[in-house]
Amino acid sequence: MRASVEVRGIVQGVGFRPFIHRLVERHGLEGWVRNTSEGAELEVEGGRAAVGAFVREISAEAPPLALIESVEVAELPGSGGYGGFRIIESGRGEEMRTLVSPDTGICADCLRELLDPADRRYRYPFINCTNCGPRFTIIKSVPYDRAYTSMSDFPMCPDCAREFADIRDRRYHAQPDCCPECGPEVFFLDAVGRRMTGDAIETARGCLKAGKIICVKGLGGMHLACLAGDEAACSELRRRKQRDEKPFAVMCRSVECAKRICRVTEVEERLLVSHKKPIVLLEKLGRGAWAHLSENNSIGVMLPYTPLHVLLMGGDIDCLVMTSANLSDTPIIYKNSEAIDRLGGIADGFLLHNREIVTRCDDSLMRVFEGREYPLRRSRGYVPYPVIVPGLAGGLLACGAEQKASFCMSKPGHAFPSQHIGDLKNAETLEAYEGQIAHFERLFDIKPRAIACDLHPDYLSTAYAEERSEREGISLLRVQHHHAHLAACMADNGLEGECLGLIWDGVGLGTDGTAWGGELLRGSYSGFERLGSIHPLLLPGGDAAVKDIWRLGLSAAVESGADTGEIAAGPEVGAVKLMISKRVSCPESSGMGRLFDAACSLAGIRQSCTYEGQGAVLLEAAASVDEDGEYEARFYVRDGLEVFDWRPMVRDIISERCSGIAKSVVAARFMNTLVSAAVKMAEKAADMTHLHRIVLSGGVFQNMYLMNRLPGRLRAAGLEVFTHSRVSANDEGLSLGQLRILEAKYVLGGATENCRD
Ligand code: ZN
Ligand code: ZN
Ligand code: FE
Repeated sequence: MRASVEVRGIVQGVGFRPFIHRLVERHGLEGWVRNTSEGAELEVEGGRAAVGAFVREISAEAPPLALIESVEVAELPGSGGYGGFRIIESGRGEEMRTLVSPDTGICADCLRELLDPADRRYRYPFINCTNCGPRFTIIKSVPYDRAYTSMSDFPMCPDCAREFADIRDRRYHAQPDCCPECGPEVFFLDAVGRRMTGDAIETARGCLKAGKIICVKGLGGMHLACLAGDEAACSELRRRKQRDEKPFAVMCRSVECAKRICRVTEVEERLLVSHKKPIVLLEKLGRGAWAHLSENNSIGVMLPYTPLHVLLMGGDIDCLVMTSANLSDTPIIYKNSEAIDRLGGIADGFLLHNREIVTRCDDSLMRVFEGREYPLRRSRGYVPYPVIVPGLAGGLLACGAEQKASFCMSKPGHAFPSQHIGDLKNAETLEAYEGQIAHFERLFDIKPRAIACDLHPDYLSTAYAEERSEREGISLLRVQHHHAHLAACMADNGLEGECLGLIWDGVGLGTDGTAWGGELLRGSYSGFERLGSIHPLLLPGGDAAVKDIWRLGLSAAVESGADTGEIAAGPEVGAVKLMISKRVSCPESSGMGRLFDAACSLAGIRQSCTYEGQGAVLLEAAASVDEDGEYEARFYVRDGLEVFDWRPMVRDIISERCSGIAKSVVAARFMNTLVSAAVKMAEKAADMTHLHRIVLSGGVFQNMYLMNRLPGRLRAAGLEVFTHSRVSANDEGLSLGQLRILEAKYVLGGATENCRD
């Protein structure tokens, strides 16, 4: 039979055509293959059974980096008279420009060659092939061709060129292909930047084993590394980096090494070893163990993902701290010169190389939840793969929020969320943000025709969107923060229509000008309504209360009419009480994150924080997982809004603490109360609206104590629960929601002028 086969998806630059070539040979077929703007197009001819098997194997055996959306087959009449099989080169215009694959961890074949003394790339730290290696972080512009990557500095030697041109070779058209003869090289610098002679990797290993801290150049930026088991080295790293308490991620030599520290489920193991090689948050074997790495119950673990990492760990280093090399929340350092200039006094040595990183990309951070990925930070290994949204309009730009900045752009049918960018409050991060938007526009050939931003006028992402909209005369849509979270979780799950959304986060500007963050909404991409919230909490001193969470504990206690005599002492207490009673410098917030901070303080766990969200982290870490008790959840109605009144709960917390009930019990009962309150509100809303689907989004849902209880309880109440699996529940994931809301307003709503796509 003769058939035409249409393959849609990401099939370019991932070794798809050689794969097809092998399949065709296996089944003795004839015909041709050609790239199209949507994927690839083929014609094949052969026995009916052979053609059938060929088509099945396209999806079943596709190369690891390919993303096959669909394979459509149509039988053609007559014979094609192909006389063999050929690859038809397509004109550049026809190729979809969205073919850039993410950076990918070393594959099993390359790993074997790396450790094989007979291989010509034995111990060569830049070994790669069509199935693995750097991609997104080395690309300067499209098309994806060596000339447009930072590998252009390294002309191929004849051996590499031969592999590159041979369709039977694993390195056929592998743009970063190289070897010790022609490729980049590593070198080691001492603390003051002097180049050391001798084997760079062995020198670095020696330093690490001697308890030193070294800077290691990775795929998307620099890491600071030291032995994870060396408490003195780790605390020295904290001291030098001024990172007092934030958890450190580690790199384990193997899954077996990881299992000595953490519990690793089957799904988690699969994610650890996958070519994406994210940091996976794993539960510690012992609750208080490895406290010098992380103060909560989990540790972020990744496996070596570059050949350089494999060689660095060798056969004897089991576990290294691998933390991003950056200073006080600025973007990750990615240039050699920058590393030497800025990490002086922090790193005792530098393991660097001469292949330039073009684009910063942090390590991705994932959890596994209900058998699926639950992203906390979506970056290396994931970006720039699109989220496929059938029918999505192209030419849209959503600018995200501020603290966990990201943006999202669209081409028809595809949304491209950016990598993790960081906190935009910082001038350097803003520069990186603007630079990345421009880079994505070039890479994917997108010219925005409409822009979305947050409702908050002070976010730098909003200022950016306003400025562009003005300068380029394109429409601007301001999207309410929690509506964007709701839409993000809907888009993440491919939902259309209307649903409920429980959106709990730190803060976002509401349509009434107050700070929201404990919201129950109903909504769709085209609108939303606020159904429920939580009783507002005064934040004495505004931003100061985010750090000094005792202020929030005191504020909650005063608001609840509890006796505050026993709960706070110190020179500032009187002044803060006065602020509260006079309501001076006390903005109101219905943010769930702030209620967590207040509870953390009142439970006696912690009174001041060194990073945002620490109160919730410590409360979760402290909570006893076997405690079923809870406090009373009361509600009242205000302006048609169902409001969770936490005041009785706060009174209970204070009296239990005074009577000596353990912090672990109080922490658990607090969260159990929130779960019950959420279920009651959601049930009532479902009855009223006849909506039975509910999405959970917002940064508070990074709390696994809640995640392990709330969805089950909501399902038991008859609701269909949707959580994130492709973008983060925190503000980083919100740009995807803004994008869908923007589409609903300006494209589906009818305004289609300036359309370019
Ligand atoms: Zn490989
Ligand atoms: Zn070579
Ligand atoms: Fe948020």
